[in-house]
Amino acid sequence: MKAAILKKINEPVSIDDVDIPDPAENEVLIKQEYAGVCYRDLLAATGFFPRIALPMIQGHEIGGTVVKVGDKVEAFRPGDKVSSLIYIPCGKCEFCRSGNENLCPYKKSLGEEVQGGFRQYVNIPEISLVKAPNNVDGASLSLAACVTGMLYHALKRMGKAGEGKKVLITGAGGGVGIHAVEMAKAFGATVIAETTSPEKLDLLEKIGADYIVDGNSKFNEDVKKLGGADIVLECVGIYTFERSLRSLNNGGKMVIIGNVKPDPVSLPLGLIILKGNTIRGSISSTKKDVEEALNMVSKGMIKPIVGKEIDISQINEAYKLMKDKKSSGRIMIKF
Ligand SMILES: [Zn+2]
Ligand SMILES: [Zn+2]
Repeated sequence: MKAAILKKINEPVSIDDVDIPDPAENEVLIKQEYAGVCYRDLLAATGFFPRIALPMIQGHEIGGTVVKVGDKVEAFRPGDKVSSLIYIPCGKCEFCRSGNENLCPYKKSLGEEVQGGFRQYVNIPEISLVKAPNNVDGASLSLAACVTGMLYHALKRMGKAGEGKKVLITGAGGGVGIHAVEMAKAFGATVIAETTSPEKLDLLEKIGADYIVDGNSKFNEDVKKLGGADIVLECVGIYTFERSLRSLNNGGKMVIIGNVKPDPVSLPLGLIILKGNTIRGSISSTKKDVEEALNMVSKGMIKPIVGKEIDISQINEAYKLMKDKKSSGRIMIKF
């Protein structure tokens, strides 16, 4: 089978032939229909993660149908539909034991420290897998950990989004933002979508954004006119941060996700104190979040928004599209 392998930082990814692996005793071999392509993969290819082991099969948005299981695997059988976390948790630390494995300090990232999912057949340790209801489609299986499960964690577990809440989503036209709009609507929230791209307005309206504000302006003033935000899902970072903060209502929360750069922002402390605001980071997803996201797909509450399907040989072009912000919805490799 073909695999997309990063051999050197800042060089094009190679498409090589590799063998279909045999699962180790604690592993499951899954066959993918789709693999998600994430901005994080582009960051990895450009040297953002110093721990990356080269050569590396990239990709961490992995899901599919079980075809073979190792001798010690207990919870999965061939034919099961599964989604993988984007990492392998240690399973032993206090975070792992309390269902907060997204915070495991010993977790290993797929596609960075452990060979990833840009190949049709992937071997994954059982501890990273979640069983999906049978009616979940192939694209949703691969998006359940890094997109929908991650958003479930951020919007629901961290943000407590729900009916009667106004949620501002920044970067709403991006691959993550567009799914965030869809999910916040599914929770019954009123959604204000921020974007700098006029060409993404139609899609945002179609997905159900109640209001759209222009990221090139002082959008916090527009959000305030709409009644302010109870929750901000900050998907962009430095560029929108201060305007997002100024959009919050008293007691409002900002949940920060995405590939946040290490550069600092300035914090108007008085504003945060006077409004009693909370700013909180949200990282990845737990197995419970992935399960909840898959159930939402199964019940028809959300569906995958695939911007573009590509062949694995087009991965470098896909990176260029993401770099130039020319993609809306998720880019997915179709096998
Ligand atoms: Zn991802
Ligand atoms: Zn752990």
